[in-house]
Parts: sequence; structure tokens; C-alpha cells
Amino acid sequence: MDTVSLSGKELAAAINADTKARTAALAADGPAPQLALIVANDDPASSWYVNSLRKAAERLGIGCDTVDLGADASVDALRAELAARSADPATDAIMLQTPLPAGVTLDDVSSSITSTKDVDGVSPLSLGLLASNLDGFVPATSEAVVELLKHHEIPLAGRHIAVVGRSNIVGKPLAQLLLAENATVTVCHSRTTDLPSVTAATDIVVAAAGRIGLVTGKHIREGAIVIDVGTNEAPDGKIVGDVDADSVRDKAAALSPVPGGVGPVTTALLMRHVVTAAENARRA
Ligand code: NAD
Repeated sequence: MDTVSLSGKELAAAINADTKARTAALAADGPAPQLALIVANDDPASSWYVNSLRKAAERLGIGCDTVDLGADASVDALRAELAARSADPATDAIMLQTPLPAGVTLDDVSSSITSTKDVDGVSPLSLGLLASNLDGFVPATSEAVVELLKHHEIPLAGRHIAVVGRSNIVGKPLAQLLLAENATVTVCHSRTTDLPSVTAATDIVVAAAGRIGLVTGKHIREGAIVIDVGTNEAPDGKIVGDVDADSVRDKAAALSPVPGGVGPVTTALLMRHVVTAAENARRA
């Protein structure tokens, strides 16, 4: 079967063109939108992502202030930084990069990000708004999956979709967004029994587990659509996804590449959220 590659590059470019114009309009009339990127890890895949965010912000004219609190930052230090940035009128948007230091969970600190600046939708308020179908910032990666599927004109209503991964920042919000699109959603996780038979019963499989090669040909049915959210560092230093592309390619109708699939769309949506937060702040 000829598997279509679900590239995110064209969609990301279209989103970025709009963001750049909105950024220029704001900067013509005041300061450029300003993102605070809070980091507290020494994870290589994370620093690859942080670098790509910094470059993306620069290309779009968005200010990006990276604050590295170190891989041993305490809950109190993280909360204090997030609260200070939430109160700082010069900061339009806050993003807290994961992973967090050992023993610190997102739930320990995310409530210190004010929801108006929570551009990656991680705070309990943002997640609650999403669960209630109310307006708020949605986690960019989850939104990117839905936008990528729509861009490639893949219908969602009535389709059975397996989401592999149930984290608060990817899997769970994605399940909510897909439900809002009238899909039938099965959420799988590390305790799912017999993952291949669960995912092979669905039309679309989204791999968001952070495990190299987890989803193989035996996890999908003939003609399935496969979206790879994984961003993992392989032993050779390359960034690879969760999908074993070689075995899946024999069966899938379409597969999103890593890199070049969900990733660029996630970054573009995050930057769009930064500009939206800045526009909202100017209007307030
Ligand atoms: P996480 O570690 O918080 O959660 C992983 C989830 O996968 C958990 O719910 C776990 O139950 C599930 N899981 C783990 N092993 C499994 C297995 N063997 N079978 C079934 N389920 C399993 O990770 P996360 O933050 O949600 O990120 C997931 C992946 O997405 C990572 O590779 C991350 O780097 C990537 N990511 C990509 C982007 C992007 O823009 N492309 C953005 C954020 C995260």
C-alpha cells in the first residue's frame, strides 16, 4: 500500500504567516509579544524542543525569555517563578517545559500559571475549561493532532480513534478534543491489556507514549491512519517517534512523519497562542 505522508510543514507555514502578521501589528503599536519559557531539566529531547521554540519565536518576531531553573529546582522555586511571570505585565505568555525535576509533577506547579498566559493549556483551570467545552488555551500538541488531521481532510466524526497515552498535556486533552469532533475515542496507556488488539480495532491510531517503536504493523489494521506524536532521542542522537515506520508503512493508508509531522504544527500553534494572549492583554 502507498502510505501517504501527513506532513505538518505546509499547515505550520500557513499558521506562521498569520502569526507573523499579527505579531507585526502588535509590535507596530507597542512591545512585541513576550513568551517566558521555563525549563527545569537537562533532558536532551527537551533541549532540542526548547531550541526549536526559541528559533521559531525569533523568526516570527516574538520575544522569548528562557529561564533555566536547573534540573534540581524545587516545587517552591518553580511556583515562585511561575507566579512572578503570571504577575509580570511584560510577560504575555508562559510555557513550562517538561520533564520536571525528579519528584515534581506538573500538578504540583501548574496552578501557579495564570490561565490568561497559559499558552500550553496545562493549568487545572485551562484543562477544566477544555473538559467543559469552554474557551481557553488548549495544549498545543493535542490541538496540533486535530489540526493536522483536518488539514489532510481526514474525517473525524463517527470514526473510532485510539489515543495511546493519557498524560494531562497530550493524551487526555487530545481525547477531549476528539470527542468534541464527534469521534469515538479509546484512550490506551501503560496498563492497557493487549494494546495491539485494542488499537487494531480502530480507524485512526495516535501514538503519544514516548516509547520508541511502540506502535508497529501489528497494532494497526489495513488502511488505518497513524499519527506519531512521539519525540524521543534515539541512541544515535536522532529524534524519532513512537511508531515503527517500516512495519506500519506496509499497512497504513497514511502516517505522520517524525520530524516534520505533528512537531511543526505544535510549535506554530503555541506561537499563535502567544500572540492571542498578547492581543487579549492589550485589549484588557
Ligand atoms: P508522558 O510520559 O507524560 O506520558 C506517556 C503516556 O504514555 C502515559 O500515559 C503512559 O501510560 C503511556 N504509555 C507509556 N508506555 C506505554 C506502553 N508501553 N503502552 C501504552 N501506553 C504507554 O509523556 P507525554 O508528555 O504525554 O509525551 C508523550 C510523547 O509525546 C513523548 O515522546 C513526548 O516527547 C512527545 N511530545 C511531542 C510533542 C510534539 O510537539 N510533537 C509535544 C509534547 C510531547
